Amino acid sequence: MSELSMIPAARPVIGEEERVAVDRVLRSGMVAQGPEVAAFEVEFAAELVGGRTCVAVNSGTSGLHLGLLAAGVGPGDEVIVPSFTFAATANSVALTGATPVFADISADTFNLDPVSVAAAVSERTVAVMPVHLYGHPADMDGLAQVAQEHGLAVFEDAAQAHGATCGGRPVGSFGAFGMFSLYPTKNMTSGEGGMVSCADEEIARGVRLLRNQGMEAQYANEVVGLNNRMTDIHAAIGRVQLGKVGAWTAQRRANAAFLDEHLGQVAGVVTPAVREGCTHVYHQYTIRVDGASGAQRDEVVAALRAEHKVGCGVYYPTPNHELVSLARFAPAWELPVTARAAAEVISLPVHPSLSEGDLERVVEAVAAVVGAGA
Ligand SMILES: *Cc1c(COP(=O)(O)O)cnc(C)c1O
Repeated sequence: MSELSMIPAARPVIGEEERVAVDRVLRSGMVAQGPEVAAFEVEFAAELVGGRTCVAVNSGTSGLHLGLLAAGVGPGDEVIVPSFTFAATANSVALTGATPVFADISADTFNLDPVSVAAAVSERTVAVMPVHLYGHPADMDGLAQVAQEHGLAVFEDAAQAHGATCGGRPVGSFGAFGMFSLYPTKNMTSGEGGMVSCADEEIARGVRLLRNQGMEAQYANEVVGLNNRMTDIHAAIGRVQLGKVGAWTAQRRANAAFLDEHLGQVAGVVTPAVREGCTHVYHQYTIRVDGASGAQRDEVVAALRAEHKVGCGVYYPTPNHELVSLARFAPAWELPVTARAAAEVISLPVHPSLSEGDLERVVEAVAAVVGAGA
């Protein structure tokens, strides 16, 4: 097996056009937030969120943080979030001084379960912030209904879901704001970066102020703000990637279809579902090892990597409410679907650089390891 090369779990695709774009900005001598950022915001809005106003920031986490602040979330407020996600979701709520309240997920899509969200609502709840995990849209109809009943705002963590749709409508166009991450492992990148799509000009202005020390006019600071600006260097990379993400998503879908077809028959493997009316952009292709404990799943991962040289990941092995950093927000209720997902999930390579041979190797490896009952 030593002649096999490792199939990476993720691989950012950065080419000549990105290098040329960066060089253009460097030669201009103006590298901080400027015309490239402004153009990236307009192009991103048109391409991915139906023309909603977009504001670029220096990371996805900053985008969530500033979106929450612009929406007026702060101390004394509660925001309902999933525990089965990257810690940035709850971190951004906690950083505003508000309390993240963890609700459970649905077993099929790993996304917030509206029934669990409704049960978590209190007098202090001001908003629900679903994550479109792995690139599959959260149940926006079900969540909108709960939000409407209880007078809650909806915010979207669309970090992993560039271009995913729900009822024909793109994610990031449902909530008061939606955030897209542009970190290198995401479906498109700007190096580091985030984009906030805004439902109205008030939120957009709030995010613009907060990213720039609270200034619109120089030295006329209106609110206490941060420096969370994107640079023109990063925006130039993002603009090139924006032109490619559609084709990459199509390739991710084709890769997922191949994996679905061949892994669907392997005993003990549950392939990812796509809900009716939704499109999935497969940031991750995440299977369940049905009924596995966390330790058994970890053995499968170790065998896939060591014996078959298949890179794979576990997103996320520890629910947020069990992390040292966030345990003080652990809910009084159990999150059984979250616990089971954290024990069973494995994300397999699905990125657009995979060859047909790579995909065949992934299938053979999973069939050998899981089918053998490792
Ligand atoms: C990546 C990610 C973030 C944070 O984005 P950064 O650009 O890394 O700050 C937030 N939420 C989720 C679900 C993510 O996957």
